[in-house]
Amino acid sequence: MLIRTRDDQSRLHRRQCVACGYSGRFVDRAAQESCPRCQCDFSVRPPMSYAEMEGFEARDLEAARARRMRALDTPAATEWRLVERWLAFLFAVAVVGIAVIATGVALLVPH
Ligand SMILES: [Zn+2]
Repeated sequence: MLIRTRDDQSRLHRRQCVACGYSGRFVDRAAQESCPRCQCDFSVRPPMSYAEMEGFEARDLEAARARRMRALDTPAATEWRLVERWLAFLFAVAVVGIAVIATGVALLVPH
């Protein structure tokens, strides 16, 4: 027979780093960006409790989203989004340019 104590219950709901299992008080702080023990990036792998990992409890989506938004706000991420936008623009210009040239060639070639 399995006897559950109050300590088992709190352990089920205590968040921990999913990479190393660290469950100290820094894990649950919303401003904590990475695990103080193993430097696991909490914006990529947010800390979870056993109950959350097993699906018995809804994940703390608000905290996870706040971490993701902070990760998106880094200068490198902003710069990369700008590069992606420029590449998309150049691709669109190239597609339209090729279409215009192909149409011109098709109209100029005698049938
Ligand atoms: Zn860790």
